[in-house]
Amino acid sequence: MKFGGSSLASTSRVKNGARIVHSFSSGNKLVVVASAMGEVTDQLFEIGELAQKGEARMTRRLLSSLQRFHRAVAVSVGGRKSGRDLATTIDQLNLELEKTVEGILHLRELTSRTRDYLLSFGERLATPIFASAMRAEGVRARALTGGEAGITTDGNYGEARPLVEVSYHQLRRRLDSLLAKKETPAVTGFIATSVDGNVTTLGRGGSDYTASLIGAALDADEIWIWTDVNGLMTADPRIVKDARILSTVSFGEALELSYFGAKMMHPRALQPASQRRIPVRIRNSQKPNGEGTLISAKESDNRGRVVKAVSIIRDVGIVTVGGAGMIGAPGVAAKVFQTLGSNNVNVIMISQGSSEATISRKDVDRAVRALQLALLGQGQVERIVHEKDACIVAVVGSGMKGTPGVAARVFSAVARRKVNVRMVAQGSSEYNISLVVSEESGPEAVRSIHDEFRLAEKLA
Ligand code: ADP
Ligand code: ASP
Ligand code: MG
Repeated sequence: MKFGGSSLASTSRVKNGARIVHSFSSGNKLVVVASAMGEVTDQLFEIGELAQKGEARMTRRLLSSLQRFHRAVAVSVGGRKSGRDLATTIDQLNLELEKTVEGILHLRELTSRTRDYLLSFGERLATPIFASAMRAEGVRARALTGGEAGITTDGNYGEARPLVEVSYHQLRRRLDSLLAKKETPAVTGFIATSVDGNVTTLGRGGSDYTASLIGAALDADEIWIWTDVNGLMTADPRIVKDARILSTVSFGEALELSYFGAKMMHPRALQPASQRRIPVRIRNSQKPNGEGTLISAKESDNRGRVVKAVSIIRDVGIVTVGGAGMIGAPGVAAKVFQTLGSNNVNVIMISQGSSEATISRKDVDRAVRALQLALLGQGQVERIVHEKDACIVAVVGSGMKGTPGVAARVFSAVARRKVNVRMVAQGSSEYNISLVVSEESGPEAVRSIHDEFRLAEKLA
């Protein structure tokens, strides 16, 4: 069971989470994965940025409010019996966090390795608090970090990749022995340890990935993701008011949705579960009796409905490489992608001509500089231009495979609302069509497609 930040955002939510764990613990062996509370990861990120810029006052103000927040929650969650131990643990972590932040302030330097270490405090503070709340409910919880539980990664800080076989082996050894003693491991999501022993993170939203890795390692019956919505929906309910919950979704569809849904689930999270065919259930921690969404290996019955959901990735940019000399000149595309790859720029989408790439907005300036250095002045590429205010809208559904006319309906729907489409791509699985539109028109594009395919209506 993984509890997302939204499900642990306050004392009452932490206690609610603990009651949920307790209510399912008899007769089941459970492993719990905890995210950082609420928006704590964003706040730590912000603290790092401010400290790097030398904004000492703002940095310390944010830091001390984060410290006080966790301490206050710890005091009210811990109760009288285990309260003192928990407070000591939190104080120690707070002190360690403070030293880290002071170090960044002093050096005015924030490497990706240090950032991972800084961000790790979110989960490292939340997990002992959650474990203590579970113990207050009578669950024999034991807090562990992802690394202690056995997740070992490479040193690709910020987006570390687990060494899967080693991690599975260690997870089984360490967690099974706790489970055998009738203990409930509570593992920090999102963070792990590199081969050389440094703290790494699995990328934003990575607690889902932690849960899936653990579920796969232990061959769990199911992986449950507790969050703040009733399940996976036809669109982000913050954008489409009448979005509907999807009761069953196949791994293929969920993969496309998570890849293009940016926030709902970590894009790699479903991989371990789907490989081992372990069903994933998404449920609302505020309504624990709801059915939620079941993601499984079964092809879902869409009853003739071709499109299942629409999602959006914000904060992307487009880089276009152009020039008459590129026509008929092999190898330019290869050089473009090699340059982006070696500069650690992840390409989210490419257009058919492959002279246009959609990438994360934060990478745009770096990508343009690298491409200019690598490609200009050699007679083929004449210009490298970029746009920063874009977003990707993805239309997903296994029923689209082999159904003609879906793309045409998508384009007319957005055109009717006067949305200009900048780029188009179709996923190799044929489960998705993605459009790049301006940031501003993204939500309207999502709504127009949601309406066109009548996703708000219940299946007959
Ligand atoms: P957690 O803190 O539980 O990890 P996240 O904020 O990462 O939660 O993800 C849940 C949020 O994802 C929801 O509040 C919702 O606004 C957003 N979301 C985006 N797309 C969808 C979708 N298709 N279905 C459900 N929620 C979605
Ligand atoms: N706390 C981390 C984040 O905000 C991981 C997660 O929530 O899954 O990205
Ligand atoms: Mg999340």
